[in-house]
Amino acid sequence: TVQDAPASHSRSLHDKDRIFTNLYGHHGADLKSAMKYGDWYKTKEMLLKSHDWLIGEIKASGLRGRGGAGFPSGMKWSFMNFKGWENDTKPRYLVVNADEGEPGTCKDREIMRKDPHKLIEGCLVAGRMMNTTAAYIYIRGEFYHEATVLQRAIQEAYQAGFLGKNACGSGFDYDIYLHRGMGAYVCGEETSLIESLEGKPGKPRLKPPFPAAVGLFGCPSTVANVETIAVAPTIIRRGPNWFNQFGRERNSGTKLFCISGHVNNPVTVEESMSIPLRELIDKHAGGVKGGWDNLKAVIPGGSSTPILPKKICDDQLMDFDGLKDNQSGLGTAAVIVMDQSTDVVRAISRLSKFYHHESCGQCTPCREGSKWTEQIMHRFEKGQAREREIDMMQELTKQVEGHTICALGEAFAWPIQGLIRHFRPELEERIRGHAQREGGEAMAGGW
Ligand code: NAD
Ligand code: SF4
Repeated sequence: TVQDAPASHSRSLHDKDRIFTNLYGHHGADLKSAMKYGDWYKTKEMLLKSHDWLIGEIKASGLRGRGGAGFPSGMKWSFMNFKGWENDTKPRYLVVNADEGEPGTCKDREIMRKDPHKLIEGCLVAGRMMNTTAAYIYIRGEFYHEATVLQRAIQEAYQAGFLGKNACGSGFDYDIYLHRGMGAYVCGEETSLIESLEGKPGKPRLKPPFPAAVGLFGCPSTVANVETIAVAPTIIRRGPNWFNQFGRERNSGTKLFCISGHVNNPVTVEESMSIPLRELIDKHAGGVKGGWDNLKAVIPGGSSTPILPKKICDDQLMDFDGLKDNQSGLGTAAVIVMDQSTDVVRAISRLSKFYHHESCGQCTPCREGSKWTEQIMHRFEKGQAREREIDMMQELTKQVEGHTICALGEAFAWPIQGLIRHFRPELEERIRGHAQREGGEAMAGGW
C-alpha cells in the first residue's frame, strides 16, 4: 500500500522541538541540569489548574499511549474522574509501567537513565490530573542502573520540596514509590503488573473491570507507560497545538523510536510521528547496512508487531494508522531492521520460543498454543514441516487471537501470521528443499 504523505509531516523535528533534551546524556541527570533545560518550570501553576482543564489539554493534544496499545490518553485518564469522585473515600493511584520488556524496545530505559526528572515531574502533573495522591513506578528488575538513577532523582525532588507534603507549594501532597520487578515479561501487562505490585504472582486479570474502576489495592488506578507520562508536562507547558502540529490527525506528536538490527548506527531517537520509515532509518540510523536495496524486512514496533517486507517498507509511514493499514502496528515503535542475509523464518521461530517461555500459563490457548507454535516453528525453520502445516499454523494462530486473557496471545500469533502473509514462498521453498535433500539422501542410501 502506498501511503499518502501526511499533510503536516513537512514539519520535521528540530532539536528545539524535542521533549527529551538529554537522551544522549549531554548533560547530567540531576535536578539542577534538568531545571536548566526546562523541567520543573511553572509546575505549581500546572498543579493549580482544574482536572478537567488539564485533561482537556491532553485530549486536545491527541496524545495516545506510548506503551504499545495507542489508547487515547486523555480519554483513559478521564475515566478516573467519574462522577462522585469528590466523595470517594478510596485513594487513587497512578501506576507507571516501567517494565519495558518488548524485544527491540529500549526507549523508556533511556528516559529513566538520562532524563529521569521528565518522568518524575510527569508523575506529579499527570497524577494530579487524575486526582491521585501517589504514583508507583514499577521498573523492570534488570534495570538496576536506571532504578538507581531514578531513586536518586526522586530523592532530589523530595529534598527540593517538589514532592511530598505541599508538593511544589501547591497545597497538594504527592508521593512517588519505586518498585523493582523480577524480570517477567508478562508483568508488563497492566493487570499483571498490579498483581505483582500487590505482592502476588504476576498473572493478568480479566478485564473489565479496567484498572480505572478496580486497580491497585482495589482502588481506582491508571497504569500508563513511562514515555506517555514523561511527555505530559511539556504538552501542558507548550500547549496541545504545539504537540499536534507533528504527525497526522489521530497520530500526533513526537515519538521515541528505537532502531536496531542491520543498520549502520543503531539508535533511540525522538522524531515526528508519521515520519516515513525510510527517512527515519536513513536520517538517524545511518541507513540499512549495504544500502536500502539490501533491506529484506522490518519488524516496525517491537516483537509483537507483524513483520513487513521491503516493498511495504518503501512507502511506510510510522504511525498507528499507517501501520494498521498494512496489518501491522506501531506498538512500542521499536524498529528491527533485517537485511537480505536474514533468515526471517528463524527470526520469527526465535520469537515463538520467547513467547512460549513468557506465557504465564493460566489460559489454555496461550499456554498450549505458544508451546505448539514454538515446536512447529522450529520444524519450519529446519524445513521439516509439511506444506499443509502452513495453513494449519495460520488456523492455530486465528484460534488464539481474541481468546486469551491478555495480549500475549496475540503477541505470539500476529508475528507468525505476518510471516505467512509475506514470506509464504520462503516457508514453502524451505520445506520442499528439505524434502528433496531427504529424498536424495534416501536414494543415495539405496545405491
Ligand atoms: P489494551 O488495548 O487492552 O489497553 C490499552 C489501555 O487502555 C489499557 O490501559 C486499558 O486499561 C485501557 N482501556 C482499553 N479499553 C478500555 C475501556 N473500555 N475502558 C477503560 N480502559 C480501557 O492493550 P494492552 O494489553 O494494555 O497493551 C497491549 C500492547 O502492549 C501491545 O500492543 C504491545 O505493543 C504492547 N507491549 C508493550 C511492551 C513494552 O515493553 N512496552 C511489552 C509488551 C507489550
Ligand atoms: Fe497468561 Fe498467556 Fe493467558 Fe496472558 S494470554 S493470561 S500470558 S496464559
